[in-house]
Amino acid sequence: MQFLPELIQKNVPLKHLVTFKLGGPAEFFYTAENSENLCAAVAWARNQHLPLFILGGGSNLVVSDAGLEGLVLHNKCMETCTVDENSHQITISSGYDFEDLVELAQKHGLAGVESFAGIPGSIGGAIYGNAGAYGRCIADVLVDARILCPDGVVKTVDNSFFRFDYRSSRLKTDPHIILGARFQLEAGDKNEIRARMNEIVEQRHSKHPSYEIGCAGSFFKNLPPLPGEERRRAAGSYLEQAGAKTMSYGGASVFEKHANFIINTGQATASDVKHLAAMLKEKVKQDFGIELTEEVLYVGR
Ligand SMILES: Cc1cc2nc3c(=O)[nH]c(=O)nc-3n(C[C@H](O)[C@H](O)[C@H](O)COP(=O)(O)OP(=O)(O)OC[C@H]3O[C@@H](n4cnc5c(N)ncnc54)[C@H](O)[C@@H]3O)c2cc1C
Repeated sequence: MQFLPELIQKNVPLKHLVTFKLGGPAEFFYTAENSENLCAAVAWARNQHLPLFILGGGSNLVVSDAGLEGLVLHNKCMETCTVDENSHQITISSGYDFEDLVELAQKHGLAGVESFAGIPGSIGGAIYGNAGAYGRCIADVLVDARILCPDGVVKTVDNSFFRFDYRSSRLKTDPHIILGARFQLEAGDKNEIRARMNEIVEQRHSKHPSYEIGCAGSFFKNLPPLPGEERRRAAGSYLEQAGAKTMSYGGASVFEKHANFIINTGQATASDVKHLAAMLKEKVKQDFGIELTEEVLYVGR
């Protein structure tokens, strides 16, 4: 259905659209199912001088208890999903689940994204935060992306535009909206790819909360490697040594199997989560002199 301002809803709860299962409502809310409608809704928000927030899978967010001011644009754009068997490239709209890309690649015997098996969220959100796991990240496979610029122009930009860094991209300071993306993969063996995916998903199940439990993945970023080392230092290890697993505040608690996961035990508020996060940061600073920074994003008023 074509975008019409009348289709914009008011005061829509977001709790059910974010994996932490908490937070307040969106002042205005619209779900875009194609790029044309998404661009029209963005133009509407700009004309109304309203703040705009793009919601993907809601899997990296702590939405404040008072909710979000302005328009929350839920990106469900899924117009394009094509596999080029010759070039081993996949072109996909940004509203698809990241998991859809991983599955599609496996079905076509294309390797390169199997390490991302089990990462929730959308393609757009994954690019925004340079999502990754097991030593690989989006920056390793993204060729280019179609974006909507702040001036309303739609254009294609290549990988370097995003200035990818660890769990970060240029979009964090210079907002552009991702409409679609093209990924470079390589020929692989379907069975081997599936086996690797299964192995990764199993590992995730053994140490992550189940999907029914509210959380937003790793709460804090891992720390830069020590001089002469390559691997980042796990924030979870410092948290665990600091006694995080016994800590909770209100309805927010540290997950028993992984000290870098804050979970919603049922009735947590965003304020509980922020309070617990501040307690954890303070304890790690006291014990190790290390300043943790959030990987999750706090959004809202
Ligand atoms: C159980 C669990 C496990 C996780 N494991 C991992 C992991 O292994 N590795 C990892 O990297 N992350 C992990 N995460 C975090 C999360 O899945 C990723 O950060 C994910 O990429 C976020 O995508 P999203 O669509 O949910 O984004 P959202 O949470 O909806 O939004 C995050 C940010 O992206 C912006 N955004 C979303 N779509 C667009 C778009 N189209 N254009 C521009 N900006 C956009 C939003 O405005 C927001 O600022 C995990 C989360 C959970 C709950």
